[in-house]
Amino acid sequence: MRLTVVGCSGSHPGPDAACSAYLVEQDGFRLLLDLGNGALGPLQRYLDPRDLDAVYISHLHGDHWLDLVPLAHVRRHHPDGAAPVLPVVAPSSGRERIAGAFGRSASDLGDVFAFSGPADGSLGPFDVRVIRTAHPVETHAIRLTAQGRSLVYTADTGPFAGLAAFAQGADLLLAEAGFADGPDLQPGMHLTGTDAGQLARDAGAGELVVTHVAPWHDRAAALVAASSVYAGTATLAMPGAVYNL
Ligand SMILES: [Zn+2]
Repeated sequence: MRLTVVGCSGSHPGPDAACSAYLVEQDGFRLLLDLGNGALGPLQRYLDPRDLDAVYISHLHGDHWLDLVPLAHVRRHHPDGAAPVLPVVAPSSGRERIAGAFGRSASDLGDVFAFSGPADGSLGPFDVRVIRTAHPVETHAIRLTAQGRSLVYTADTGPFAGLAAFAQGADLLLAEAGFADGPDLQPGMHLTGTDAGQLARDAGAGELVVTHVAPWHDRAAALVAASSVYAGTATLAMPGAVYNL
C-alpha cells in the first residue's frame, strides 16, 4: 500500500498546501481519501484525474470535498473523452450537496459519480472499516487493510472513546491535528497534536502522520506535541510525501 499526501492543510488552503486529499494505491487501484479545495491541482502531479478508481469523502465540510466539483468537470468534459462513472463514498446528503454546487439536480450527476454511503466492506483491493467520529457533521474515519497492512485515517474528529480501538495496530495512522493545544477547546471538533500522539500511543500504531494543521497554527508545534507522548516515528504530512506500508 502506498500513501501519497496530495493536500493536507486544515480548514482552508495554505500558501504551500491544498486542503485534505490523500492518494492510497494498492495493486494499481487508486483510491482518494477526501478531495478538499485546491487539491485537484496538485493531484495532477501524481495521476490523470480520469484514472481515479474511487473517492472516499469523510464528511461534507468544504475542505474535504469541494474539488469534486472541478473533478466532475474534468471527467465529463475532457477532450480525450469522458471518464467512466466514478464510485464516490460520501455521507448520505453528499449527492445533493455536490449537485447543488452545479445548480443541478442530483440525478444530473449520474454520468459522472456513483454515490454510496460509508459502510464496512470492500473497495477494490481494500478491506474497509469505518467509524462515526466526534465532529459537528456526519463524519467517518476509515481503516483500509490490504495484504495484511493497514492505514487508519481519522478524518476530522474530537477525541472519543473507541477511536483507539478502531485504530488498534494500524501500520500507519494518519491523524488530524486541527486544534493547537490549549485551554477551553471546543469538544467534538478536532484533535490536537497531543491528542494525535496519544491516539497513536494508545492504538499501538506503527507510525504516525500528523495532518490537517490549519495555516494559522504552527505545524512544527503540532509534531512536537505529538512526539512528546508517542515514542514511535511521527512526521508531519507535507504535500508530495510518500509512505510505503
Ligand atoms: Zn470538518
